[in-house]
Amino acid sequence: MRDRTLLQNLRGIVFYRSEPGGKVTAFGDGRELLAAYTRADGTVDVRAWLDAIHPDERLDYLAFEARRQAQAGEFTMEYRVRDPRSGAYRWVRETGYVVITKEGQVCYDGYLLDTTASKEQERSLRAASDAALAASRTRGEFLANMSHELRTPLNAIIGFAELIRAQAFGPLGQQRYLDYAEDIRAGADHLLHLVEDILEFTRSESGGSELKETTVSVGDSVAAALRLIRDQADRKKLDVDVDVVPDLPHLRADERKLRQILLNLLTNAVKFTPAGGRVTVSAYCGDAPDADMVVEIRDTGIGIAQKDLERVMEPFTQVDASLSREHGGTGLGLPLSQRLAEMHGGRVELESRLTVGTTVRLVLPAIRVLPSSNPTSML
Ligand code: ATP
Ligand code: MG
Repeated sequence: MRDRTLLQNLRGIVFYRSEPGGKVTAFGDGRELLAAYTRADGTVDVRAWLDAIHPDERLDYLAFEARRQAQAGEFTMEYRVRDPRSGAYRWVRETGYVVITKEGQVCYDGYLLDTTASKEQERSLRAASDAALAASRTRGEFLANMSHELRTPLNAIIGFAELIRAQAFGPLGQQRYLDYAEDIRAGADHLLHLVEDILEFTRSESGGSELKETTVSVGDSVAAALRLIRDQADRKKLDVDVDVVPDLPHLRADERKLRQILLNLLTNAVKFTPAGGRVTVSAYCGDAPDADMVVEIRDTGIGIAQKDLERVMEPFTQVDASLSREHGGTGLGLPLSQRLAEMHGGRVELESRLTVGTTVRLVLPAIRVLPSSNPTSML
């Protein structure tokens, strides 16, 4: 009795059938499906069943049927069959064993499960991921094209603004015009950097960007990035401390990309630190052969809340995204730096406390650290 109720309650159809054209005994809550194709004497109407199978799978089913009649063992096939109650096709998976009796009779012990729900889920998942992929490709192409198109006119604007400011073809007369020309140049310069960031980012996302590796001095790269933010830091009366270990080994890296990472991180430190604060840049590398190279940029700025730490690594994400926010930018600096670090096999780590400050660490893996050429440090 218990076995019987168990079989009745199954979410599919358990059946056994003796061949050829044998009687089918079915259990389970889906057995009406099979009943519709079963004759009064209990044998399955194979023709009717075959007709109910979706035309796309019918031939496969015939081959499957021929295969399992020819050999004992396990069988499994998934196909669509018309449900006589609704007229709609349902996906079913037919699995089981071919049993050959002592008398040489072929029998099936099988299980028929309705897999429509999981098939549909699979299909909508695939459609969603296809759509996401297409959307991201379109976005990438759009950004790359737009950035590229913007670059040419921007360069012209910068060039002519510089000519005007230099009064190359005669005096402007009014100091105010000179100031405007400078504003035009600065504005266009800012836009150009933004456009280049976007271009670089889409390139790094599509894997179209490569490393141009050379031997790089971290100290020189830090100094070069510092020169570019010095003005801004002075204007905000920030203390900028540099602590680069003197005989720091060289790196095998893409110098331009390394400088870009440092510039992005330093710009953030200066931008998000209120007047009178302090920015400290240090670079170090342990003596052990597996020691990573670390450039650390610490600030005493506004900090980032714990809940936002992961978010700011996403492209176009800013903690304060309101139109009235006081700091400019697009939200590409950190994600781009992370990508560029990853291209080197490294990473960017963020540590921060709201109102206390932020520490950003650029970690470059030991395999990028070149053996020191300084003989004293070899001892
Ligand atoms: P962009 O770098 O593209 O000009 P951005 O500086 O806003 O714009 P990211 O550098 O990616 O973009 O930084 C994302 C966000 O993370 C910033 O908007 C800011 O909210 C936060 N952030 C980054 N660095 C710091 C920092 N040193 N101190 C406080 N907040 C920071
Ligand atoms: Mg930034």
